[in-house]
Amino acid sequence: MSSGLARRVQKKATFPLVIWYSSGFFLNTLVLFALAFFLLRSYLIEEDRSAVQLKLMELTSSYQAGGLSSLEKELEVERSFGKKNPFFIRLLDKSGNTVAQILPPSLGEDDVPPPERPAEGAAGFRSWPVDRGEEELELGSSLLDCGYLLQVGKKSSERDKVLRHFRRTLGVLIIPAPVFCIIGGWFLAYRSLLPIRHLTETVRAVYRGQTGQRVPVSKGGEGLEELTVLFNAMLERIEDLIRGLRESLDNVAHDIRTPLTRLRAMAELALGSEDNEEGLREALVECIEESDRILAMLNTLMDISEAETGTMRLELRHVSLNFLLGEILEFYQYAAEDKGISLEASCEGDLHLRADPNRIRQVLGNLLDNALKYTSPGGKITVRARLQEREVAISVSDSGIGIPEQDLPRIWERMYRCDHSRSQRGLGLGLSLVKAVVEAHGGRVEVLSTPGKGSTFTVYFPSPA
Ligand code: ADP
Repeated sequence: MSSGLARRVQKKATFPLVIWYSSGFFLNTLVLFALAFFLLRSYLIEEDRSAVQLKLMELTSSYQAGGLSSLEKELEVERSFGKKNPFFIRLLDKSGNTVAQILPPSLGEDDVPPPERPAEGAAGFRSWPVDRGEEELELGSSLLDCGYLLQVGKKSSERDKVLRHFRRTLGVLIIPAPVFCIIGGWFLAYRSLLPIRHLTETVRAVYRGQTGQRVPVSKGGEGLEELTVLFNAMLERIEDLIRGLRESLDNVAHDIRTPLTRLRAMAELALGSEDNEEGLREALVECIEESDRILAMLNTLMDISEAETGTMRLELRHVSLNFLLGEILEFYQYAAEDKGISLEASCEGDLHLRADPNRIRQVLGNLLDNALKYTSPGGKITVRARLQEREVAISVSDSGIGIPEQDLPRIWERMYRCDHSRSQRGLGLGLSLVKAVVEAHGGRVEVLSTPGKGSTFTVYFPSPA
C-alpha cells in the first residue's frame, strides 16, 4: 500500500469521526447549559417562595398570638419599612374587602391580583404575571380562623436579574464553544484512530519486508487492544512458519548434500572403472539403495519440519494404550526374539490418549528400534504406560549400551549420532522425529541413561481426562 493512499484512507476515516465527536460535544454543552439554567431558575423560585412562606408564617403566628389587633400592629411595623419593604401584604375580610394592604415600591395597584372573597382552597401558592408577563409575583395566601385571608407576595425582579445575568454569561460562553468542541473532537478522533494508525504503519512495514515489526500495544483500553495482541500473535506465527520453512530448507539442503555427493561419487566411480556388466549392475544397486536412503531422509526431515512448525496434519482420536501396546508388542516380538532380547509391555489401568495413532506408533516404533539396535543379545526391553499426575507417561527401557553423559543433551538434534553408534545403520533423525511429534501433541520427552547399564526414554502426553 502506498503511503499516499494510506494517508488518504486515514483522512477519510478521521473526518467523519471529528464531525461526530464535535457535534456530540456541542450538543452536550448545550444540554449542560440548559440544565444549569433550569436548575438555577428552580432554585431561585424556591428561594422566593421560602421567603414568602416565612413572612406568611411570621404574620400568622402574630395573629394566632394576639388576634387581628396584634396582626394589624405587625402590619404597621411592616409598613414602617417603607421603600425597603420587598413584600406585598394584604388582609381581606370575609366579603373580600381589603382591610389592610402594603405595596412595595416596585408594585402598583394594578399589578396585584384583584381582591376576592376568601373561598375554600384559597390558601397556598400561585404565580401572578406582572409587567405584561415579563415578571411574576410569587403569592402565598393563608386563611385565618376568623375567615380573613392573609396574602403575602414577592416580585421576581431579583431572581430575574440573576437569571438574565446568567443567560448573558452562557451566551458569551457558547460563542467559542464550537471551536473547543472541534478541538476536543479532533483530539478524541485522533486518539481513537491511533491503534488503527499503528496497525496501518505495521502492515506497511511488513509489506516492505520488515517482518519483525509489531503493533505497539497500548494499555489505555482503547478496545482495539485485543485485536492488536491477536494481530501481533498472527504476525509472530507467520514469521515462525516462514522461519521454520527457511530452516527446514537450509537443513534439507545441508543434510542432503553429503548423501547426494556420495551417490554422485558412486556413479562416477562406476563410470570411470573398467568393470564388466556385473560390476556396473552392483554399482547401480548401490545407487538405488543410496537414493532410497536419501528419500527416507527427505521424508523424515519433512515430517520433523512439519511437526516443529505446527503444520503437521494430526488425525486426533481416542487411542487405547492397552490396544496400541499389544499391537506394538506383537510387531516387535519377532525381531526381539531373533536378537535374543526379551520384550515386555505393560499398561497400568485402562489408559487412553487423544492423539494420532499412526504418529504414536511411529514414536514408539523409533524408540523400540533404537532399544533393539543398542541392546546386546540376552538383554531386556520393557515398555510401560502409566498415569503420572496429569500426564500419560510411556517409557521404553533397555539394558543396552547406554548413552555417555556429554551426548545426552544432543541426541534430540537432527543428524546427531553418538560415537558408539557409528557401526550401526541409522540416519540420526529418529529421536528428532520422536521429540517433534510428541511436542506437536502438546507433550514432552525425557531420557535417563547410564553407559553400560541401559537407557530409559519416556514420552509424556497430556491426559485427556
Ligand atoms: P539413529 O538413527 O542413529 O539411531 P536417533 O536419532 O534415533 O538416530 O538416535 C540418536 C543417537 O542417540 C543414536 O545415534 C545413538 O547414539 C543414541 N541412542 C538413541 N537411542 C539409544 C539407546 N536406546 N541406547 C543407546 N543409545 C541410543
